[in-house]
Amino acid sequence: MERFDCVIVGAGHGGAQAAQALRQNGFEGSVAMIGDETELPYDRPSLSKDYLAGKKPFERLRLRPEAFWAERGIALRLGRRVVSVDPAARALGCDDGSTIEYRHLIWATGGVPRRLTCAGHDHPAVQYLRSRADSDRMIAALPGIRRVVIVGGGYIGLEAAAVLRELGKAVTLVEAQERVLARVAAEPVSRFCEAEHRAQGVQVLLGTGVEEIAGAEGGGCTVRLSDGRDCPADLVVVGIGILPEIGPLAEAGARARDGIEVDAFCRTSLPDVWCIGDCAILRDGPGIRIESVQNANDQAATVAKAICGRPEPYAATPWFWSNQYDLKLQTVGLNLGHDATVLRGDPAGRTFSLVYLREGVVIAADCINAAKDFVQARKLIEAGCHVPADLLKDPERPLRELLEVV
Ligand code: ADP
Repeated sequence: MERFDCVIVGAGHGGAQAAQALRQNGFEGSVAMIGDETELPYDRPSLSKDYLAGKKPFERLRLRPEAFWAERGIALRLGRRVVSVDPAARALGCDDGSTIEYRHLIWATGGVPRRLTCAGHDHPAVQYLRSRADSDRMIAALPGIRRVVIVGGGYIGLEAAAVLRELGKAVTLVEAQERVLARVAAEPVSRFCEAEHRAQGVQVLLGTGVEEIAGAEGGGCTVRLSDGRDCPADLVVVGIGILPEIGPLAEAGARARDGIEVDAFCRTSLPDVWCIGDCAILRDGPGIRIESVQNANDQAATVAKAICGRPEPYAATPWFWSNQYDLKLQTVGLNLGHDATVLRGDPAGRTFSLVYLREGVVIAADCINAAKDFVQARKLIEAGCHVPADLLKDPERPLRELLEVV
């Protein structure tokens, strides 16, 4: 049996940042980080981008070298999964039978890919993209792969489509809704991305689901679509969202919905148990989990400060990014509940922003190859500015000038 003053479950971005932030904030107790992968913490967003494309070796994805953790007295317990939490005994049960006791527990487990459930979902050609092992499996198979079907037109599906097209594969992307990126962006951004992928040769099928995946003679499979079409594929990449990894904590009684509920300090309903990142949901927030590295890192800092006796409520403006082909898509803010959008610039020029407003106040912006807008929109959002649409829509007028106008 081991015991640590702070046990962090999850060795992804949130967990790694929490461990570092505890030390930066002067935490002198013992710290352990438990991760079910055998890897040291690494940069997950690269898995569907540069790493999949073979442009970055895995060594460059590591967030810190191994010695970093030892130097800070952060014990790593990798290749181990927490399967139960006993909040009364302050003890964790692991899949190898071991027990680890804690004084503080930080739950930073992220999520697992949502799986297909149709017939043939377990065909070996069906793959997901969330861990290094997932990417490595795909990379190893790539030389023998010609035709790819991608299920899901969110960031993961679109990023994979871009990489696989660049590698010369024939790519069909199947999206259940009538447009790509429907969860996160408004129509103009969806249509722009769809057009970019079509121009690169991706066959984009909208309003289409997967009915069945059948084995095919000579390897590969046939993906039967909801419109009755059969799509042959050597690889099926599924990117249909994640499910938060909250089982043991929810079973232990932590208040949960689609994630573990936390207050503004990332405190759960269980004593001295905190939760951050993709699997946390702010009790008094927008009502959704935020799946981003920024959110995981900033919540890690919030928890570390609270544990070290200097609590500051989490108040960061969320941001997200994606790379597809030569496009850099950056989003700042959350567009939930927007009642108007303003287009800045012309999508045909491949540099534009879509600004989201609620009751005349700027709440979010999607910036495509428009890094200045991304930086400056944040200031407008944080200032809670009312900005007239006719001023916003002029791409020649820097957004920062609008801070002074209003
Ligand atoms: P991710 O982060 O994995 O990209 P998102 O939730 O942003 O996840 O996007 C997933 C996309 O997959 C959504 O646009 C959703 O409409 C689509 N989708 C979900 N289930 C299916 C399905 N069975 N077939 C096709 N598309 C699906």
